[in-house]
Amino acid sequence: MGDSENRVLEVKDLSVRFDTHQGTVRAVDGVSFYIEEGETLGLVGESGSGKSVTNLALLGLIPNPPGVIDSGQVLFDGKDLLKLSIHEMRKIRGNRISMIFQDPMTSLNPLLTIEQQLAEVLEIHRGMSRREARPLCAKGLGEVGIPSPEKCLDSYPHELSGGMRQRVMIAMALLCDPKILLADEPTTALDVTIQAQILELMAKLQKDHGTAIMLVTHDMGVVAGQADRVNVMYAGRLAETASTKDLFDRPMHPYSKGLLESVPRLFGDASGELFSVPGQPPDLASLPAGCAFAPRCSYAVDACTNTRPELTVQIDANATSERLVACTEAARVLAADLAAEPADGGAS
Ligand code: ADP
Ligand code: MG
Repeated sequence: MGDSENRVLEVKDLSVRFDTHQGTVRAVDGVSFYIEEGETLGLVGESGSGKSVTNLALLGLIPNPPGVIDSGQVLFDGKDLLKLSIHEMRKIRGNRISMIFQDPMTSLNPLLTIEQQLAEVLEIHRGMSRREARPLCAKGLGEVGIPSPEKCLDSYPHELSGGMRQRVMIAMALLCDPKILLADEPTTALDVTIQAQILELMAKLQKDHGTAIMLVTHDMGVVAGQADRVNVMYAGRLAETASTKDLFDRPMHPYSKGLLESVPRLFGDASGELFSVPGQPPDLASLPAGCAFAPRCSYAVDACTNTRPELTVQIDANATSERLVACTEAARVLAADLAAEPADGGAS
């Protein structure tokens, strides 16, 4: 694990800002990470932490204006995607790297049938005619568990349920057998039962096709069930990178610890937030000089308000893979956890 040959995508020092009337919003600020072949990489963090902007940037979908990519490289297949022309990027998007969003209604065209939308993908990327594409589209819909693919092909998006529309989106995203699927809160808009079905489906398709998935979610339960590794994002930066097991066993960033300790609320509020860490997320248009989490952090020392911590390799004797944490107090967080571990191995 961790060998660079296994990496299908490598993001280096990505920064994205939005120039707005309220000021410059540093939505993504010097983020580096990689995705390994066939893995599920979780991306978690509160609403507004820059998860969607990170995903959009990878596919050249940042609206400009107001968005500007300030720095970075997105290395895929020997190329820097940030340097590609619009035309070259179109050949990758929906083909080698696909994306699904929270709300399929925003990405499906209400005026076109499902067949027209699925077939278009194969027309663009495979040069197929509509007639050639139809059986492949039907096959794709069958694979995502749509009961009557032929009937679905002739439907319009509004004739389908939310769960079925998300299945259509997944089918569309996988038509060209992409290396990477970027899934941005793919189940957030769905009720719990359907959410479980869609997650199970994604896991199965991933196994069958070897697709690497970046799964964006604010639901730690979803991460625990799906992800191999996790990036924790806070205020446009990565706070921690760890294997899912290490993160859940021994979070090393106080923010990750907060995410895991916050009790899930049974009835999410309007934003659908399932957990909350005490305090308010910072204003990305006026970030403090030091650590952006310091004002909410019970581990903070004086130095935290002056210097912004870099993501650095941490020593954890029990780690199952490399641990990176952007906190000078990470060792203290870990020590506190180990000390708190009860000898009876359990209940507290
Ligand atoms: P999330 O982690 O919830 O996906 P986002 O990546 O959507 O967060 O947003 C990160 C920050 O970027 C937020 O402060 C958001 O307001 C800002 N942002 C995103 N898109 C735009 C835009 N088109 N114009 C201005 N600000 C934006
Ligand atoms: Mg988002």
